[in-house]
Amino acid sequence: PAPDPNIQVVADRLRNVKCVILVLSGKGGVGKSTVAAQLAFALSLNPERQIGLLDIDICGPSQPHLMHMQGEEVHSSASGWSPVFHADFPNLGVMSIGFLIPSSNDPIIWRGPRKNGLIKQFLTDVDWGDLDYLVIDCPPGTSDEHLSIVTFLSGIPRTLGLIVTTPHELSLLDVRKEIGFCKKTGIKIIGVAENMSAYHCPNCQCSTPIFPGSTGGARKMCEDMEVPLLASIPIEVGIGVAADQGRPINSNDGVSHAIFSKLVSVFEN
Ligand code: ADP
Repeated sequence: PAPDPNIQVVADRLRNVKCVILVLSGKGGVGKSTVAAQLAFALSLNPERQIGLLDIDICGPSQPHLMHMQGEEVHSSASGWSPVFHADFPNLGVMSIGFLIPSSNDPIIWRGPRKNGLIKQFLTDVDWGDLDYLVIDCPPGTSDEHLSIVTFLSGIPRTLGLIVTTPHELSLLDVRKEIGFCKKTGIKIIGVAENMSAYHCPNCQCSTPIFPGSTGGARKMCEDMEVPLLASIPIEVGIGVAADQGRPINSNDGVSHAIFSKLVSVFEN
C-alpha cells in the first residue's frame, strides 16, 4: 500500500525538531506523565535549549496540572497552534488536549478515528519552531492511538522511545509487549526508566522497596529484552510536591533530582 501521506506532513512540520522523545508505558498509573514532565523540566534547565512537551494522552491529559497551567488557552495564528509557554521557563512550550476542552471534569469519550484525527492535528498543526527536544507523553498501552502516533512519526528517524515501568511484574508484563511493539514498528528504544523503585523517606533517608517480591525485576526484564535500564526513580514526597507546584524537582526534594540530571545526559549523547 502507498505510504500514509500524513507521514510526510508530520516530517515536514517537525523538520526543525532535533530529537523526538516518546514517553511510553504499558500500564497507566506507573508515572509516565510525571517522568515526561520532569524530563521536560530537566532538559529546560539549560536555557539555551528549546523544549516542547506534547501531551497526547487524549483520555487523561495530565500535563496542564503537572506544569501548573490549568485553564490556559491555546492561541492560533496563520502558522498553526501556538504552544503555551511555562511562566518560569520561556524555553519550554506545552501543548495538551487539556487546553482545548472546556472543563477538566468533562470525560473525553471519543472513538478511534476522532482520537487519531486529533493526534494527527497535534503533530501537524502546532507551530513549535526550532526545538532541541520534543517530549511526547503518550497514552498508556499498545492501542490504536499508539499505532497512529508511531506511524505518523515513522518518517522522523530522530525518534527515541523511553519506556516507564514500575518494578512490579504486572507493569513489566505490559512493558514487554510495549517493547515488542516498538521493535516491530521500528521505534528505537533508548531505554527503560524504572519508577517507584522504592520509597525514599525524607526523614530517615532510608530506602524501602515497595514491591519487595519484584526487586531487580526491571533490570532482569531489560537484560532479557536487550534494552538499557537508564534510571531507577524512587517514590518521593518531593516529586508529588513539585508536581502540584508545576516545577522541576530540585535537590531539596530528595534524591530524584540527581537521577533526572543523569537521565538528561543520556539524551545529550
Ligand atoms: P501515568 O502517567 O503513568 O498514569 P502519573 O504520572 O499520572 O502516571 O502518576 C500517577 C500518580 O503517581 C500521580 O499522582 C503522581 O504524582 C504519582 N507519582 C508518580 N511517580 C512518582 C514518584 N516517583 N514519587 C512520588 N509520586 C509519584
